[in-house]
Amino acid sequence: DRLRTFESLEFRDVSFRYADDAPWVLRNVSFKLDKGHQLALVGTTGSGKSTILRLISKVYQDYEGSILLNGIELSSLSIEDAMHLFSLMQQDVYLFDESIAFNIGLGKPDIDREQIREAARYVYADGFIQTLPGGYDMELDGNGGNLSAGQTQLISFARAVAQGGQVIMLDEATSSVDSVTENLIQRAISRLFKDRTVIAIAHRLSTIRHSDTILVLDQGRVVEQGNHEQL
Ligand code: ATP
Ligand code: MG
Repeated sequence: DRLRTFESLEFRDVSFRYADDAPWVLRNVSFKLDKGHQLALVGTTGSGKSTILRLISKVYQDYEGSILLNGIELSSLSIEDAMHLFSLMQQDVYLFDESIAFNIGLGKPDIDREQIREAARYVYADGFIQTLPGGYDMELDGNGGNLSAGQTQLISFARAVAQGGQVIMLDEATSSVDSVTENLIQRAISRLFKDRTVIAIAHRLSTIRHSDTILVLDQGRVVEQGNHEQL
């Protein structure tokens, strides 16, 4: 049955490698995320942060240990039954050579313009979109080549909000953005953190500070776990 509401996500001693003869990239990872809470994943490059999001997204199924969604083993749920609860904000979002409105409403064929604007407003993207030639009808070019890196991120935030998932998974981009856009991104993130359940691969200190739990990964192991004050 399709799960209606998100209650919790738990990793119990999860270990994972990309192939039988490949090195382990997650080793006995355990954590629990309850509804309304925020989890930040931090750690050096290659420590396994994105792999955790890929396992949650059911891209790979052959892990050891348990991944429990509302107490149900994730591998026993279909992608459709599980993933409609999650919206992913990717590190390198792909934008189609279509209008801004199309890109925000992606995967939601029935979404109307007002709902698209509502999602954009929620992440503070509506203002800059309205200043663009054509506004929401502006055609994007070359994977958002005619937008700045920060604007691209805001579009990806709006897309995730428009998808309506109860849990936001955020793979925070590291690209430097101008200070005005940075400010919008920070406001959007703190708003999401107040309203939603979030799992964030975090690079910004502000994202880390707003999280209930911080998981520090090193070579696939959790080396520290706690809140900002404890760490
Ligand atoms: P970054 O901060 O650079 O995004 P990360 O913490 O997200 O790093 P992962 O992408 O989870 O790191 O990668 C963890 C390890 O798994 C790395 O050693 C990486 O080389 C390896 N890895 C990632 N994807 C694959 C893949 N598709 N096939 C084989 N190995 C992979
Ligand atoms: Mg990554």
